Amino acid sequence: MKIICIGRNYVDHIHELNNQTPDEPVIFSKPDTALLQGGEPFYYPDFSQDIHHEVEIVVKISKMGKNIEEKFAHKYYDQIGVGIDFTARDIQSKLKAKGLPWELSKAFNGSAPVSNFVPKSEFANVQNINFKLEVNQQLTQQGNTSLMLFSIDQIIAFTSRYFTLKTGDLIFTGTPKGVGAVKIGDRLTAYIEDQKLLEFDVK
Ligand code: MG
Repeated sequence: MKIICIGRNYVDHIHELNNQTPDEPVIFSKPDTALLQGGEPFYYPDFSQDIHHEVEIVVKISKMGKNIEEKFAHKYYDQIGVGIDFTARDIQSKLKAKGLPWELSKAFNGSAPVSNFVPKSEFANVQNINFKLEVNQQLTQQGNTSLMLFSIDQIIAFTSRYFTLKTGDLIFTGTPKGVGAVKIGDRLTAYIEDQKLLEFDVK
């Protein structure tokens, strides 16, 4: 499986990092070795001093497809979860300054903790879902999928022009504002609406 991520998909987060608003989705990916599931701890890596949390809605692909039309994209995913797009912000800043790819800052081991998934049918409108992150029981990030620049269906249509999407692939759909550093000893808890779906420790 592969993990595809969307950058700069919420305007309030674009502004907090002083980035430009994109005219098409900003795409990067993480390998399967980035995945953390079942509340496994995240081990703080020795190559960064500034690992940031980015809480994001995650979509699980349920059917293989390529060149998927936006109007049919809803048929290609049936489960929604929440995850953390861990980012080594110190490394990313250096790479961005040089115009280099982001992989070292985004795709390292354990950089993609993901919750259990819930059926899409639980939601009346996938583009109106509240989600949030608590760090040590303090509300740290919250968002609503209505604020995405590019909707889930638009993201599926766009990415499937370049990458065949396969059953089990995950798409991280971007983070709202409030990103910040984590430290060893932190406990991260992520929710969709009021449902606690993901909880793990930074070690
Ligand atoms: Mg992100």
